[in-house]
Amino acid sequence: MAIRPILTVPDPVLKQRSKPVEGGVTDVHRALMDDMLETMYDAPGIGLAAIQVGEPLRIIVMDLAREGEEKQPRFFVNPEILWTSDDKKPWEEGCLSVPDIYDEVERPARVRLRYMTYDGKTVEEDAEGLFAVCIQHEMDHLEGVLFIDHLSRLKRESAVRKVKKAERERAL
Ligand code: ZN
Repeated sequence: MAIRPILTVPDPVLKQRSKPVEGGVTDVHRALMDDMLETMYDAPGIGLAAIQVGEPLRIIVMDLAREGEEKQPRFFVNPEILWTSDDKKPWEEGCLSVPDIYDEVERPARVRLRYMTYDGKTVEEDAEGLFAVCIQHEMDHLEGVLFIDHLSRLKRESAVRKVKKAERERAL
């Protein structure tokens, strides 16, 4: 396993649409998922899409365990949303690719998913609460969409400016 650099805005790679994993989940994908998980834990964060480490594949890792709880790593390959609830819920989101910026995004409160697991098994599952928020946030990444793209242009531009400024200051 290895920790990989996480791309941050305004890196154009983050705007890329990720490609489906073809031919099932292989050891190459599992090695990528292991790296992604280690990178996410190190950051630390609760979700990471492959494009955030520069791999344009439809792969997501997640762990929603609270601090002090046992780790609950989860892997989503080629996730699809089969159904979304009509009721929506606002939630304050953040993103490892937009460090230290948090803002409220409104999304469907519940979704039904289909995806392949780490072992390549296809499963369907319902998500609500933080799980629903996180999987929709991560699946946006697969389309090249960031949570700040759901905000006003003013807020989005201000977020990108703040991230760039913080990085310039770190580089000094
Ligand atoms: Zn994100």
